[in-house]
Amino acid sequence: MCDKNLLKDPSKRNLLKYSAGAAAFTAFGSLPTLSYAASLTKEARDKMTPDQVITSLAEGNKRFISNKRMEHDYIAQKKTSQHGQYPSSVILSCIDSRVPAEIVLDAGIGDMFNSRVAGNVSNADILGSMEFACAVAGAKVVLVLGHTKCGAVQGAIAKVKMGNLTTLLNKIEPSIAKTKFKGERKAENYDFVDAVAKTNVEMTIQEIRKNSETLAKLEKEGKIKIVGAMYNISNGKVDFFN
Ligand SMILES: [Zn+2]
Repeated sequence: MCDKNLLKDPSKRNLLKYSAGAAAFTAFGSLPTLSYAASLTKEARDKMTPDQVITSLAEGNKRFISNKRMEHDYIAQKKTSQHGQYPSSVILSCIDSRVPAEIVLDAGIGDMFNSRVAGNVSNADILGSMEFACAVAGAKVVLVLGHTKCGAVQGAIAKVKMGNLTTLLNKIEPSIAKTKFKGERKAENYDFVDAVAKTNVEMTIQEIRKNSETLAKLEKEGKIKIVGAMYNISNGKVDFFN
C-alpha cells in the first residue's frame, strides 16, 4: 500500500523506511510498498509545531477513512521505540470499543499517549498522566476525542445509577444542562446524545485548563494546544473543533 500524501508530509517523511523486501518494484513497475517501520524520533517530534501535530492527526484519520492506512510494521516500531518514546500527542478518549484512537487516527507504536475512560471525562489521575505526557515527555497536543452514540453520555442522560458508574456519569451531567437543543432531550434521541457529547468534550477541555496549571501554562506559552474533536462511529470521520 502506498500513500503518496505521506511523501509530501515533511513531518513524516523521515520516518519512512522501506521494509526489507518491500522496496522492490513489482514486475509491473508500480511504486514500491512503503511500510511505517519506525517510531517517531525525538528530532522529528520536536520539529513539529502543535498545529502540525493536529494536521498529522487529521491526515491519519483521512487515511483511515479512505482505507489507505500505512502498513505499520509494529515489530520494527517496537524495536525502534524500546529505548525511548517521543509521542507527539496525548489523547483522552472514551473506552468505547468502536473508537480505538490509534486505529482511527492511523498511528503506530510510540506515536501517541492514550488515556481512555468512559465518556472521556477528566480526573486528577488523567490530568497527571497528561501533564507527564506534555511537560515531561514533550507531547505537543492534548486531544479530547468524543464520539457519536456514546453509551456513557446516554447513561448520564438516562440518569443511570450503578455502583461506581454513578460517580462517573455525574461528571457528564453538567453538559446535559448546558446543551442547547431543540427536540427531544432523551437518551433514545441520538441527535441529542451527540450534542451532549460535543458539549462534554468542550467542558472537559475547560476542566483541563482549570484544573491543570501545568497544561494551562504550556498552552499559554504556545508549547502545546488543547483541542477537541468528535469521532463519528458511522462514517469514521474525526471532526476537529475550531
Ligand atoms: Zn463513549
